[in-house]
Amino acid sequence: MFCTQCGNKVDPSSRFCTACGAPAAAVPPPMGNYPNTGQLTRPRHNRMIAGVCAGFALHYGWDLNLVRVLTALMIVLTGVGAIAYIAAWVIIPEAPYALPAKST
Ligand SMILES: [Zn+2]
Repeated sequence: MFCTQCGNKVDPSSRFCTACGAPAAAVPPPMGNYPNTGQLTRPRHNRMIAGVCAGFALHYGWDLNLVRVLTALMIVLTGVGAIAYIAAWVIIPEAPYALPAKST
């Protein structure tokens, strides 16, 4: 990929142009007050059991209560939900406690 500001070749893993410092990729819009790293995480706030529901709700912009109701229904009615929930619990990393502090 190339820098949109100066045309310098930018490494795909780099978030900023090394020549002019412009953002190398479109920055995703922030979601609420939560640190958004673009990755599905389990937030430490708003969690009921393991934060899986809150994580999905935040990541995909779903209604948290709706996600919880649907998850509960899946667990109660099919049993598959419980397995999926535990799997998500294990797979999805926990969100950081707070936004990374600026190192000066
Ligand atoms: Zn540049």
